[in-house]
Amino acid sequence: MNQNNCLSQAILPFSAILLDMDGVLFHGMNPIDGAIDFMRSIEHIPHVFVTNNPVRLPESVADKLAEIGFKRPDEKHIITSGEATAAWLAQQKPDFRFFAIGAGGLHQSLQKYGYEDKDNADYVVVGEGEGLDYASLTTAINLIIKQGAQLICTNPDTSVDAFYRGKHAILPGAGALVAPLVIATGKQPVTIGKPRPLLYEIALQELQAQADTCLMIGDRPDTDILGAQQLGIQTALVRTGRFAPGEKLPDNMSAPDWDVDNLIQLRKSLGL
Ligand SMILES: [Mg+2]
Repeated sequence: MNQNNCLSQAILPFSAILLDMDGVLFHGMNPIDGAIDFMRSIEHIPHVFVTNNPVRLPESVADKLAEIGFKRPDEKHIITSGEATAAWLAQQKPDFRFFAIGAGGLHQSLQKYGYEDKDNADYVVVGEGEGLDYASLTTAINLIIKQGAQLICTNPDTSVDAFYRGKHAILPGAGALVAPLVIATGKQPVTIGKPRPLLYEIALQELQAQADTCLMIGDRPDTDILGAQQLGIQTALVRTGRFAPGEKLPDNMSAPDWDVDNLIQLRKSLGL
């Protein structure tokens, strides 16, 4: 915390912040208007970045933020669904053994806490990226049915917007990639990412904060905001991502504490 600034800061109803990134801070490699200034204005407030994307490692996310003009955050403060999955599994079973289906970043996150072991895995972990094929599906099914391995899914997204091989594409999310395993085994996965509570809970542990003292800033009512509300985290919806200004909220949720068009408005509303 910057002690020199304390007296001049607005009195806020929260003491720590969780931030979604895509659609809040940037689109692809383009920072969203006002996002860099917003991040400067909350430098003195403990904050973490939370993303359902398990493909990139925190160091790579930090590099990207720096490359597009943000101050490079501490990697510890970037909680991907892959990192949260690894941390949660380590809490369930220290030195766990796993078989993972997904991109290299997912394997690397899991290797920080556990060991790859396709013959005796405790957990079959499905994330995003390439890796699902006949052989990996067969290995995973046998681990679950014959050896009792538990099925884990990094995030529930059914599809994700991304740049793939140089152009925009809709890619299968972990929620879609885990589906063949659910069908084949009859087992439901434990799912970590938003709107499920586990990614938030790992983020709150990193912040060492209680849910009701935190603010979640996100662009998706159905994941970022709903999941945070269910844990009692205060919420701010910015309409710079999938959800446009004026668009009606889904019926199954209450209004966020702040509902703004963008981070410029949020900064004004909070007096930052
Ligand atoms: Mg987003």
